[in-house]
Amino acid sequence: MPAQILDGKAYAAKLRAQVADAVAGLIRRGRPAPGLAVVLVGDDAASQVYVRNKVKATEGAGMRSIEHRLSADTTQDALLAQVALLNRDPSVDGILVQLPLPRHLDPAPIIAAISPEKDVDGLTIENVGRLAAGRPGLVPCTPLGCMLLLDAAIGDLAGKRALVIGRSALVGRPIAQLLTQANATVTVAHSKTRDLPEESRRAEILVAAIGQADFVRGDWIAPGAVVIDVGINRVVENGPSGEQRARLVGDVAYDEALQVAGAITPVPGGVGPMTIACLLANTAVAAHRRHGEMPPRWSLKED
Ligand code: NDP
Repeated sequence: MPAQILDGKAYAAKLRAQVADAVAGLIRRGRPAPGLAVVLVGDDAASQVYVRNKVKATEGAGMRSIEHRLSADTTQDALLAQVALLNRDPSVDGILVQLPLPRHLDPAPIIAAISPEKDVDGLTIENVGRLAAGRPGLVPCTPLGCMLLLDAAIGDLAGKRALVIGRSALVGRPIAQLLTQANATVTVAHSKTRDLPEESRRAEILVAAIGQADFVRGDWIAPGAVVIDVGINRVVENGPSGEQRARLVGDVAYDEALQVAGAITPVPGGVGPMTIACLLANTAVAAHRRHGEMPPRWSLKED
């Protein structure tokens, strides 16, 4: 039987609806609508699209979107000053500096300058530390989205054997920490791992965050395993009349995996849509905390 397809678009819509409910609740209790500030430097085409989508989703959830578009020649000091302004602005609950920045800017000090309470990307050392220590903070959006999908697909992860392929600070590492917090037994694989196919075959949960098209083959996957494919890779291939066309594929050979896995996220339409929805969720959490209210708990499980 082919795997259950974990429809990230539908789950993301469900999460956005939960965020909108939480925002409506805040407003009913006399709080201002949460504000998400996005800072975009330069004119990178992909970033423009991401920011447009974020603005639309933010407003769709009843929150305020605050956009700061800065020119490509913005200096490090000017960008730091912009972040400092947003840190102090009481109408801003979340701050996101769209990456990548133009090459003359150093992202590390910019991210470090964001107030941890408003760091809705979960990238400041403070939030990285809170996650490592198992303390409440703001969790990076893509890892949070993966965990919500796993919760919907499996429920209790206690004792499950999980393999995370990839150990980046943005994706692999935080996912491994969240899986550990959820009581899974976690292995982290990377480019130096020996016999990755064999490691993979032991996993009941397989998270691929590598950045290489179709890297994980169908015969690496244990029958019934739940596969979360984080990878987004652009491949160019020949169309029926010889023309070149681009396609997005994941890190997992999808058609092969579909025959073996118990459940799998497609690419596109799996983890990707969850990432923006989790950005909204984090902004709502930050707003609740700022007003001294208990933040909502998100769940995409069937009611
Ligand atoms: P990085 O390049 O930062 O990390 C890739 C990881 O994969 C590294 O830990 C690397 O190991 C490991 N790796 C590379 N080659 C191999 C190999 N041959 N065998 C085993 N492990 C290997 O990428 P990111 O974590 O930032 O992103 C991963 C993928 O996720 C990309 O395709 C990216 O586009 C996608 N992505 C998707 C998002 C979404 O919203 N869906 C959001 C963010 C990223 P080592 O540490 O040893 O070098």
